[in-house]
Amino acid sequence: MKIILLGPPGAGKGTQAAFLCESFGIVQISTGEMLRAAVSAGTALGRKVKAVMDAGELVDDKLIVDLVKQRIDLPDCRNGFLFDGFPRTVAQAQAVVEADISIDQVLEIDVPDDVVVERLSGRRVHEKSGRTYHVKFNPPSTPGIDDDTGEPLTLRDDDKEETIRERLRVYHGETRPLTRFYQERALGLGVRYARIDGTGSVGEIKQAIVNALNG
Ligand code: AMP
Repeated sequence: MKIILLGPPGAGKGTQAAFLCESFGIVQISTGEMLRAAVSAGTALGRKVKAVMDAGELVDDKLIVDLVKQRIDLPDCRNGFLFDGFPRTVAQAQAVVEADISIDQVLEIDVPDDVVVERLSGRRVHEKSGRTYHVKFNPPSTPGIDDDTGEPLTLRDDDKEETIRERLRVYHGETRPLTRFYQERALGLGVRYARIDGTGSVGEIKQAIVNALNG
């Protein structure tokens, strides 16, 4: 099973990705996570992309496509994979087609901009573990502190409101056209396309995804 999850930042793609990967026994490939790991580790790649990420802009298409191609060649991708945050531009989607990577299902999680801003600007992360909280929807026991380690939580640079607005602008300009790309070419590419309302609870969205996959 090969799935692409589309949707704006803050649509809950990461959360739903985890459940889908478990259900299908496939691996989650999140280009954002891969890049953040490179930034934290201070690798050459990380140093190259940090400023672009902090500004909420997109990293170069070729760099991303090469990263993903290398990743899906690893043996754990044999059963399939789920792309979370990739492709992000029509050029990336075209590169997927050109590389003969056949996708079974595209799932778009649709969420209005204001909901995205409320969700993301309240998000706090424990950097070492990647655990995430929300000041309103999923607060830690002590504000600003990770429940498991007692270490401080941080606000990701790209979750600052100004950056979120920029990420949304980029999403509407660069990534949203992909919904048309896949809808128009679904038949030719043999891809199933489903749009899901992402404004409900995690459980409701999960159920909507299950319904779409069975429908
Ligand atoms: P995400 O966590 O998926 O929102 O990704 C965080 C940041 O990483 C984005 O704002 C971009 O700067 C960069 N990024 C992640 N995936 C891609 C991609 N497929 N193409 C270009 N840039 C990306």
